[in-house]
Amino acid sequence: MGIRNVLVVNAGSSSLKFMLFDMEAEKMLAKGQVERIGIDNPLFTFTTGDYSEKQTLCEAPNHTAAIKLVCNALVDPAKGGCLKSFADIDAVGHRMVHGGELYSGSVLLTPEVLEAFEKLSPLAPLHNPACLQGVQGCQNVLADVPHVGVFDTAFHQTMPAESYLYALPKEVYEKYGVRKYGFHGTSHKFVTHRMAEVLNKPLDEMNIITCHLGNGSSITAVKGGKCFDTSMGMTPLAGVMMGTRAGDIDPAVVLYLLKNGFTADEIDAMMNKKGGVLALGGTGSSDMRDLCSACGEGNEEAQVALARLVHSYAMYIGGYTALLGRVDAIVLTGGIGENSKETRAALLPALSGLGVTLNAEVNNQVRGIEKIISGDDSAIPVYVIPTNEELMIARETYAVINQ
Ligand code: AMP
Repeated sequence: MGIRNVLVVNAGSSSLKFMLFDMEAEKMLAKGQVERIGIDNPLFTFTTGDYSEKQTLCEAPNHTAAIKLVCNALVDPAKGGCLKSFADIDAVGHRMVHGGELYSGSVLLTPEVLEAFEKLSPLAPLHNPACLQGVQGCQNVLADVPHVGVFDTAFHQTMPAESYLYALPKEVYEKYGVRKYGFHGTSHKFVTHRMAEVLNKPLDEMNIITCHLGNGSSITAVKGGKCFDTSMGMTPLAGVMMGTRAGDIDPAVVLYLLKNGFTADEIDAMMNKKGGVLALGGTGSSDMRDLCSACGEGNEEAQVALARLVHSYAMYIGGYTALLGRVDAIVLTGGIGENSKETRAALLPALSGLGVTLNAEVNNQVRGIEKIISGDDSAIPVYVIPTNEELMIARETYAVINQ
């Protein structure tokens, strides 16, 4: 089946982000989002070509109404008119969060797949039900079109047992699925494939460390082009320090706090929403721009927080270098990896034990572009590679339908 236009949808419980791609040229035709779905004053943002709008809507009571709005805008000649009719949408690719152990690749979203996916909701209670609402809304409006699910966890399904097993009684894994799954897989896969092109190396010979550093961050060891280990765990709380997430802590801290009168919900909020840069930075913000400017102004609390953040990145990169033996490149991506020269300028010297050096002049100029930022004498080259999860989802969707 020949397909051309792929709509990529990323649904949250009250939001729906989208991008439309012409896959012949891998060109983005339109993008935008509906926010505050099912809440007062929903917001609609839509951009295509020269046309751009942001407006408050009368209503978007549910995901079906939201996707109808999107499709109507895509065919509206007054809004750039990138499509003639809904029938010009050839396929929809959905960002699905948790595929558990069921999905190691992208799949056509049949009723059986959606039923199985729903059963995984206990593993991602905030995300999976929202994804389902998005899929169902899109299937209501675009009923005759194939829908494909692309899972955040899929890339990490190649991890060996020594990477994904927690050292807990086996029944906890076997009965409850408690193991490491990993997240941001679509981004790690995108930059891995791009890195193979840049290094002009066969994918299955690539040993690299990919660092997706943003509000949520994860670091992955890629061995022979496949995920060998990753820093996030059963949930996206584990691993490096993040914007509002604590990252790795001694698990006994949770028990200690419970025994000292904190409720499970309070501890959950502390670790997921009030931790990380927000907790330690002393600026009241989880944003790296605020943290870095406070560091520049000599704020010592902020400087310690930046050092703590970089320390956590360096621990994973160092550990993964030991596991991989040979590392062809370290890749930085995500909002921080792509844009925060201050964070990168702190990170590369923290990797000096691996023989990594920084080209400070180049680093200062790099924002959202592909570039090597390590020195010529660096034992491992360090690249900034902008990620493009939406394009990766469109590519996966295209591949599933054309296979
Ligand atoms: P993400 O979750 O990938 O969108 O990344 C968000 C993070 O990237 C936030 O901490 C931002 O402060 C950081 N970020 C985005 N743009 C910049 C920038 N121009 N300079 C420094 N940090 C940035």
